[in-house]
Amino acid sequence: MIIQKNISLDQHHTFRCPIKTQFFTTLSRAADIQTIQQQPEFDANQTVILGGGSNILFRQHFPGLIIQNKIKGIEQIQKNKHHVWLQIGAGENWHEFVRYCVQQQYYGVENLSLIPGTVGAAPIQNIGAYGVQLEDVFDHLNAIDLHTGQSQRFSAEQCEFGYRNSVFKSRFKNRFCITNVTLKLSLTPTFQCQYPALKSHISEHKMELTLNNLHQAIIQIRSSKLPCPKQLPNAGSFFKNPFIQHAQLQSLKKQFPNMPYFPEHQNQVKVPAAWLIEQCQFKGKRFGPVGIHEQHALVLINYDNGSGDQLHDLAQHITATVKEKFDILLEKEVNII
Ligand code: NAP
Repeated sequence: MIIQKNISLDQHHTFRCPIKTQFFTTLSRAADIQTIQQQPEFDANQTVILGGGSNILFRQHFPGLIIQNKIKGIEQIQKNKHHVWLQIGAGENWHEFVRYCVQQQYYGVENLSLIPGTVGAAPIQNIGAYGVQLEDVFDHLNAIDLHTGQSQRFSAEQCEFGYRNSVFKSRFKNRFCITNVTLKLSLTPTFQCQYPALKSHISEHKMELTLNNLHQAIIQIRSSKLPCPKQLPNAGSFFKNPFIQHAQLQSLKKQFPNMPYFPEHQNQVKVPAAWLIEQCQFKGKRFGPVGIHEQHALVLINYDNGSGDQLHDLAQHITATVKEKFDILLEKEVNII
């Protein structure tokens, strides 16, 4: 275990801003955390665990320690007639893991194909796409408390999962290093294909419903809409879809009759953030080296070596404009450091 000094993070996060960290190390075994904690460079309050770097924006140089989680391994820990339980190292690539499940005929994560990042990052924001969220297949995870060095097991309830949210984004932000995640997958088909884009893809292509076909369909739909971070540096959806009260929806509908929405629990509706941003004419716009993707208004792009601050300023500008027009406050999905 080596702690490097003054390291560029360009290759370690998908926005690829020209950013450095004071200290940098990688973690390949959970037990190494204790060794890291004994180093003079370690300060629990100035430490960030990095996975694939696909949901993070560094505004400026980071004055602490970045630990890149590279804990690998997929282990079957239990199996019965209907389910298999897999314990996956937090540093495994999420999409590679989904591919493994498809090959093994394990059902449950296929709708989450092509989501960038690592397995350890998946519960932090309860990743979701096409009607499936991580919590639907989650069993438990193990994590090490950076303050005490103690390992702790978290059940789904203890993770406090919410919409693109968990306890690791709120109360315990940057407090724990997730070392592995256990998921419960189905051995029999349980397809979720009600999502409009998926449903129409299936009917247009007269697609036979198999695990591999669904996996390929999701890959195709996502790739047609979302820019590849290797070509256009981005961090996927920058904002969450906001939830508003039904009463506010009724009043907004008078002014914006075409406003899309989806009923949620407790008299709330979910409004697509992309639609709100599009209505403010941001889609495809450039602001110096940064901008908003031409095909997807939720995706901010670092076109030309822009800084973290420039991307953050753009996000603030979008938030303020949406608030002014709709009186809706957008929340960032991306973790801002
Ligand atoms: P879309 O099909 O254009 O739909 C726009 C939004 O409407 C989505 O964000 C989705 O919310 C919501 N929506 C659509 N149909 C719905 C339904 N039947 N019930 C409830 N909500 C519905 O979405 P998209 O932008 O192409 O994304 C497709 C899926 O991939 C979405 O689930 C999205 O969250 C996911 N995605 C995630 C990221 C990421 O970086 N995290 C990036 C791109 C896309 P939900 O987002 O709540 O599903």
